[in-house]
Amino acid sequence: MARFCSQCGTEIPEGAQFCPKCGAKVGGAATSDAKIVRPDEKSDKSRGIATILCALGFVCVAGIHRIYVGKVGTGILWLLTGGLFSIGTIVDFVTLLTGDFTDINGLKVTDWKMD
Ligand SMILES: [Zn+2]
Repeated sequence: MARFCSQCGTEIPEGAQFCPKCGAKVGGAATSDAKIVRPDEKSDKSRGIATILCALGFVCVAGIHRIYVGKVGTGILWLLTGGLFSIGTIVDFVTLLTGDFTDINGLKVTDWKMD
């Protein structure tokens, strides 16, 4: 099925996301591989372990809880800055307690079990 650029009318090659002539973004199929998070899905990470690791941020090393849930980038940032000077650790601790803390996939870490 041929597609044509909405800007200049050039035919768009199969699978291309941008017009080869004018560079305009081609609408439609580009969003088909976007991750869809179902509201009933939850993280397989333990909220209990994450909360304990987060609490460690108040006494020694911050950010391990973020690495634990897969957020390695901000985890290292937390490690280097002492949990954004404790502010990030406090925010994370509160969101863990309210059940709104999410893992790398955007799934909420809600399960307290620690086995
Ligand atoms: Zn074009």
